[in-house]
Amino acid sequence: QLLFKIDELKASVEGKEILKGINLEIKGGEIHAIMGPNGTGKSTLASAIMGHPKYEVTDGSVTLNGEDVLEMEVDERARAGLFLAMQYPSEITGVTNADFMRSALNARRGEGNDISLIKFIRQMEGKMKDLEMDPQFMHRYLNEGFSGGEKKRNEILQMTMLEPKLCILDEIDSGLDIDALRIVANGVNSMRSPERGFLIITHYQRLLDYITPDFVHVMMQGRVVKSGGPELAQRLEKDGYDWIKEELGIED
Ligand code: ADP
Ligand code: MG
Ligand code: MG
Repeated sequence: QLLFKIDELKASVEGKEILKGINLEIKGGEIHAIMGPNGTGKSTLASAIMGHPKYEVTDGSVTLNGEDVLEMEVDERARAGLFLAMQYPSEITGVTNADFMRSALNARRGEGNDISLIKFIRQMEGKMKDLEMDPQFMHRYLNEGFSGGEKKRNEILQMTMLEPKLCILDEIDSGLDIDALRIVANGVNSMRSPERGFLIITHYQRLLDYITPDFVHVMMQGRVVKSGGPELAQRLEKDGYDWIKEELGIED
């Protein structure tokens, strides 16, 4: 089972407060979607959870099955089962996709429990096939010269290989054509399990046609201002965000 809890989380970037008290609880088997206008702190929330050094947590708590995430180093968070598929994955020259994946997987598995090379290759080849990725990608430098869609698929590949407890996907749908979107969504849906939760950050309801969330949260100006079910995402697609601003009396 899984219980991931965010309580009154506040975070700043370069001295400016971006997250102003976020509360969120994700249980095993649940998919939560976070939607919201640009610049409201969605990526900041993901980065703060993962421990990105640029984002300073100033208040609140984050726990994974009762363990204090904010106390953990970045690599400990990954080992504990937190995973972020990034909005802008970085390119790393000189490190092949396979090398990167193997060290990430071994780090996740913990000391003295390395996966054998043969097993690793078999597993990676199998998952790449599921994601309809060209086998050549295994030997290419990490994300170098990958198209936007290929980078996103590669993030999902990492996720399926690492089998995290909490999967955070930050705008995984941006830059994906409809076929890639379907493949990525299949990858996510195939990983749904009672031991795993998902936090899916997205701009568009389109992704949620393929991945049905249990809860939809709207984030504005560093806060979750509204929560509901999938119907909330549909309303946002149809009517935008202005009605929420009016409802809550938020000014731009
Ligand atoms: P969203 O993902 O909702 O579009 P972000 O979390 O990326 O929003 O950004 C929220 C705010 O924090 C924006 O005003 C943005 O300019 C600022 N911000 C985020 N990351 C950084 C950073 N690394 N350096 C400076 N400002 C940042
Ligand atoms: Mg953005
Ligand atoms: Mg963002």
